[in-house]
Amino acid sequence: MYWEQDIETMPIAALQALQTQRLQQVVRRAATSQYYRTFFERHGVEIESLYSLDDVKHFPFTTKQDLRDGYPYEFLTVERDDIVRLHSSSGTTGQATAIFHTRNDIHDWANLMARCMYMAGARKSDVFQNMTGYGMFTGGLGFHYGAELLGALTLPTGSGNSKRQIHFMQDFHTSLLHIIPSYALHLLSVFNEVGIDPVNDLHLRIAFLGAEPHTNYTRQRIEEAFGVKAFNSYGLSEMYGPGVAFECPEQHGMHIWEDRFLVEIVHPQTLQPVPDGEEGELVLTTLTREAMPLIRYRTRDLTTILTEPCPCGRTHKRIARIKGRTDDMFIVKGVNVFPMQVEKVLMSIPEVGTNYQVELDTVEEMDTMTVKVEVYNEIFLGDVKGLKALQQTITAALKGEVLFTPKVSLVEPGSIPKSPGKAIRVIDHRKTH
Ligand code: ADP
Ligand code: ZN
Repeated sequence: MYWEQDIETMPIAALQALQTQRLQQVVRRAATSQYYRTFFERHGVEIESLYSLDDVKHFPFTTKQDLRDGYPYEFLTVERDDIVRLHSSSGTTGQATAIFHTRNDIHDWANLMARCMYMAGARKSDVFQNMTGYGMFTGGLGFHYGAELLGALTLPTGSGNSKRQIHFMQDFHTSLLHIIPSYALHLLSVFNEVGIDPVNDLHLRIAFLGAEPHTNYTRQRIEEAFGVKAFNSYGLSEMYGPGVAFECPEQHGMHIWEDRFLVEIVHPQTLQPVPDGEEGELVLTTLTREAMPLIRYRTRDLTTILTEPCPCGRTHKRIARIKGRTDDMFIVKGVNVFPMQVEKVLMSIPEVGTNYQVELDTVEEMDTMTVKVEVYNEIFLGDVKGLKALQQTITAALKGEVLFTPKVSLVEPGSIPKSPGKAIRVIDHRKTH
């Protein structure tokens, strides 16, 4: 049931003692890097004055901008000879950053991934199809090394080429998938096209869904249509990649591995800690990374600590499904909106198809939000009255969520462009952007 039982079920006091010791070490280690040496001096922090976990709050936050300022090598705490891998964030939000790993870092990461996959029920006897991009994007190689360490037969199919992916699933009896949720939804139409019913014609058991925000409705749709149990996988390049937090079989929140990361949740504006159970920005410190330790890294991802102990027996904290990044939020008519609010509404309506996109415009000096929604073919080609009624239902449901009336445009399946990578949910054409 556990990959590393002693660590996964470690009593909380022991886990905190381990964290304290590792935190003291990692801060000392970070201070040997060119960037942190001056950064800590500038902020007047004494690395020797860190006695408890709580003392971490005296340290400055590290942001993506710091990583850019220290690009490429200033965060290194080892010789260049000792780094074996460079990853770079996919640059969804601006200039890329460089993250380095030693051989031990790569091994620790693989082990974390194996821990996550095993927790979800993956075993050596499984056939694992890794359907996300390899390369600088960490999703591909992160899962790949974890699955091999676990001992599963690993198919590094990468992203795209949907029909070929389906052939592999058939020929090799793929039982585990790693797939970006928006791409999983898209794949459903390809199954349809090639006349394969994943539930009856394939051997899929488990899907790991990660790399982008998605709602529980999206998960349920994928579970039903693929005939799998789906697990939420969270990570970011700055903290290795996937493997930071992962759902257990309870499928309620993701365990965040506290032997490897110190977890804080802070108010996104005041940056003060928020009490457990309240939403805020996730801040992470790497506790064991060698090449490039990061102290109090602001992920910009919004989540909540779930306070109840988990029935699975793991003692590591759980975080709620990520609501989005602080910078995903857009303001329309003075209202703050997250793409996940739109998705939650859409995916709860059965007639809604597998893709959507939000477009923001300025019309006569006013903001407008148009939600383009793909609907299933039989509905799109059905009678106009039914279509109109569906449009009204969606408009009303969205209004209930965002409190203003958006425009809703129902479109043909496949008409919104879809890449195998992370989905682009919002296109902002407004003058101020
Ligand atoms: P980039 O920052 O360029 O997108 P990454 O590939 O490192 O590069 O992406 C990490 C980010 O992806 C996270 O900070 C988070 O915003 C998002 N993400 C990853 N996994 C999930 C998940 N399971 N749920 C929601 N968001 C996720
Ligand atoms: Zn659990």
